[in-house]
Formats: sequence, C-alpha cells, structure tokens
Amino acid sequence: MANIVKLIRHSRFNIQPEHQVQLVITIPSGGTKSLDLVNCSLTGLGAISRTPLDQEDGFTDGAILPPAKIKWANHECFLGRLVLRATTLRAPNEYYCGFQTIDSKVPIDGPLSRVIKPADLSEGNIYDFDLNPEKFTLASFQNSDQTNIDLFAKCRQFAILLKKWRDSPKYQYKTVRTPSKGARVSIDHLRKNGRSDYIIMGSNDYLGLASHPAVIESAKKALDQYGFGSTGSPVTTGLTQLHEELTAYIARVFGKEKAILYNSGYGANIGILSALTGEQDLIVADILSHASIHDGMQMSKATKRFFRHNDPDSLAKILDKERQNFGGCLVVTEGVFSMDGDVPPVDKLLNIANTYQARFMIDEAHSWGVVGPAGLGAAAKYNLLNQTDLVMGTFSKICGTIGGFAAGDAQTIEWLYHFSRAHVFSVALPPSTVAATLTALKIFYEDRSLLDRLHANIKHFVRGLRHLGAPLDANHESSVVPVVIGDEKILGEMNASLRDDGVFVVPVVYPAVPRLGSRFRFTVMATHSLSDLDLVLSVFEKAMIKSKFSFAKESLKEKAA
Ligand code: PMP
Repeated sequence: MANIVKLIRHSRFNIQPEHQVQLVITIPSGGTKSLDLVNCSLTGLGAISRTPLDQEDGFTDGAILPPAKIKWANHECFLGRLVLRATTLRAPNEYYCGFQTIDSKVPIDGPLSRVIKPADLSEGNIYDFDLNPEKFTLASFQNSDQTNIDLFAKCRQFAILLKKWRDSPKYQYKTVRTPSKGARVSIDHLRKNGRSDYIIMGSNDYLGLASHPAVIESAKKALDQYGFGSTGSPVTTGLTQLHEELTAYIARVFGKEKAILYNSGYGANIGILSALTGEQDLIVADILSHASIHDGMQMSKATKRFFRHNDPDSLAKILDKERQNFGGCLVVTEGVFSMDGDVPPVDKLLNIANTYQARFMIDEAHSWGVVGPAGLGAAAKYNLLNQTDLVMGTFSKICGTIGGFAAGDAQTIEWLYHFSRAHVFSVALPPSTVAATLTALKIFYEDRSLLDRLHANIKHFVRGLRHLGAPLDANHESSVVPVVIGDEKILGEMNASLRDDGVFVVPVVYPAVPRLGSRFRFTVMATHSLSDLDLVLSVFEKAMIKSKFSFAKESLKEKAA
C-alpha cells in the first residue's frame, strides 16, 4: 500500500470542476492575489489568473514568491514559498500560471485529496506548459523521479513534448540520409533553395573508408561466400575465418597477445567492464567518459568513482583515499574525448594507476586512426601501449564500419571471451562487416596518405576556426572539433543557417554536454577537400554574423567545463 501511495504522490491531479480552490499568492511588491487552482502535483501548481501577473509587481519567470496558501470551502493550507515557472495567455483574460513549491509539498494526500482527481495525461493539456521545448530537454525526463501507476504514462507525457519539439529547430534527433555516401551526402531535409545535398561535418567516418570501393567490394564478396548473418554467438556458430583473421590483425597492430570482437564499441565497453570487475573491486573513470563506459560501470557490481576530466591529481586523490578498501582496481580513460576532442595525459594517469596497483584501460574509439604515430591512438602517442593493460576500440570511426574490440594479454582476453556477456550472449558480427573492416584496416595501414590528409585537414579547419575567434588549441590533434556556442537558442539559429547553406554538423546540447556548453561538434574527414572546409568556414562565419555571435573574451571552454 505504501508503494501505491508513493506512486500516486508523483502524479498530476486536476481540481474537480464542482470545487473551487483558490491559490492565494503574496505579491512581492505587497498585498495578495487569488488565482483559480486548476491542477497540482506533489511539487507543482497550475492556476488561472484573470489579469496578467505584472512584472513590475515582481512577477518575473523564475521569481521566488513569498509564502502562499490554498483555500477551499472551509479549508486552508499553507504552502511556503513558490517559484513562478512561467505564465502563458491561454484565452482572453485567462493567464495560465505555473508554480513550483520550495519549502513544502502540496498536501495532495490530505483533505485536498477529496477535491482532486488524477489527470488524464493523454489529454495533453496539463503538461503543455511544462513541456515547452524551449525550456525542456531529454534530461527533464531522464532525471525525473516521477512515476505513475501506469508505467507508460511518462511515454504519453514525452509524446506531448516530442510533438512540439519536432516542429522546433531544436529537434536534431532524426536525420535520414537518402542514397548517397562520402563527405557530401543528401538527406531528407530540404534547404531553403530546395536542394538536399550537404557537406557532412558530423560523420565519425574520419578516413572516409565507409564508402571506399575496395571496402564495399570485400563486403560483397563475403556476402557471396558466407551469406548475410553470422548465424550465432561467437561461442556457438558465429565465428568465421574472417573473424579470426580480424582479431589476429588487431592484436598485431596494437602489439598485444590477443584480441576479442564485440558487436559495437558500446557492446565492448559494457562487456569488458561488467566481466572484469566485481563486488570487491573499484573502477575509477574520467567523468567525461562515453556513455558506454558509464553504462558498463553501472552494470558492474564494483564500486564506481569518477576523477575530474583529464586531471591526474584528482585520480591520485581518489586512489589515495579509497584504493586500500578494495580488491582489484581499474582506471579507465579515453584516447580522445568524444565531445571535447581532447587527448588525456596518458603518461601521468598510467603512472598513478601503476603506483596504486590499478590496471589501466584506454578507449581508443576516436583516437585510433587519428592520433599518435601511424594513427595508433593516444597510448601509442605517449609510447605507452605496451604498459596499457587493455586497449578498447571500435571500427565505427577508423573503418567507418561497425564493431568493437579489446586487445590485451591472452589470459585476460580469454576471460572476456568466456565471461563477457555482451560477447557470449549476442550474435557475432556479420562476415561482410568483418571483411569490410579488415579491408579498411589494410588500406589504412598500407596507404599513409589517408592519415596525412586527415591531419592536414584538421590543421586547416582548426586554423580557420581560430581565425574566427574560436578558442581552439593550435595543436588540436583530433577529428572532433568542438565549437562551444553556449546559448542553445543561438546554437539553433546558427544551425538553421548552416543547414540552409548546405553544411550538416551535429549540434550538441544538455544533457550530452553541460548546460552552458552547447556546441557544434564538427568532425573532419580525410576525404573533405580543402575547398569543402573553406566553404564550411565561410558559411559558419555567415551564421555567426546573422546571429550576432562572437566568441567571448573569457574562455567559453571554461564555461563549458
Ligand atoms: N567509446 C567512445 C569514446 C565513443 O565515443 C563511442 C561512440 N561514439 C563508443 C565507445 C561506442 O562506439 P560504437 O558507436 O562503435 O558502438
């Protein structure tokens, strides 16, 4: 019963039409004002005012209002202070005002329960106010503790937001490519001039190998030889000679004894972390690690800690305080961070891990194929590959294909092979994908010009952005080039302008990055021509001018941290 009460306490309720409930608020500049309460939840109140709430009286969005009360029939209950969330004009002389309580909850399980009834959320009107797409993000749902007797109620609420959100320029969660490939693609979104072709500046296919003719040809050949699917998990019927060849190739490239394949980089991280660590162990990862690392940590029974981004002192502090309380310990970082494009101080982090007898794992998803000698990644850049216990990576960047891997000593990889659930209980990669991946890797390692072109393009693009004032490091080394705008609205405007001029870049907003860290995540490819990049830069400058945006004197990077 207690649980049911708890569930109900998180719901929304309408005031039954036959009852009149007044929300009496205190006007910040003096006096009181009565509004008709129409709905409430444990912490929220929706009320109608017949006259506008005057800004001059102190009624601004976000204002903290003095203590309020609710009155109906012969009841009165005090609420403490309220926050004015926003006011919208619903009809002539009908202003819908949303409030949130600060000091106390709305007593919906007291006498008030006799005049309220659960709201039918499918009507869509109650949450319209709360779900203003200008104000809400996916995080509003992700972090919400609201639950309901009907498990799917949140999906209906989300659908209300989605409907409005899809119509706003802020919605960037679905783009459909029409038949096209490479650095210039066509998508289902028409530009103002009616064209649908774009220079793609958001692809992870950094070397352009996804559309290399030899890569496509090898996939076709494997399809003919093996059929489409792999037919089973790697531990049953899923492996082919191609899979064996690929794992041997990866182990050789990284100078490790053995490697293991996963179906994606995501699968690799969750598979590795959950299989290697247990209840008695400790995992310490960089706070900005990719979601797959966070999720893998969550799946593990180990204790989890996060050190400040790229901060060896923070790692040392955690290990100094906590290491002694645990059995095994794994320190995890990335070779290049996916939203910031920066490379960690691998030498310092590894040194600290060693000092505290911790194993060291690096996710080279964005660094393999880009950073370090021969593009071998961040550990190789520091000449520390042989001391790195586990190298994790994905083929979705360097090869433009799909699949993840881990490489390490034979005994650790055998452990993963037999105990890693993402490996044991999921079908193996399709042979055509494995063949394409192998061919892509061979092209990359046989033709150094691809890496040279990528480096030249990164340099050219970063120089251009720095010229426009972007606070980027002149020695920026990765394909991921973050341009922090800060204000989501300006980001949206500039994005619309870039799209109209034929540039497709990925805007990234909270919760993927901090609230003030909204940014464009440009990615540079080896197959962009210099004139492609120059065009992108001039189109970006035009978007800046149109939106009156300039890079502030104070570092936007700091704001975003
Ligand atoms: N690790 C990192 C650092 C990533 O950025 C990503 C995805 N971009 C992954 C792992 C997951 O890789 P995949 O998309 O190939 O599953």
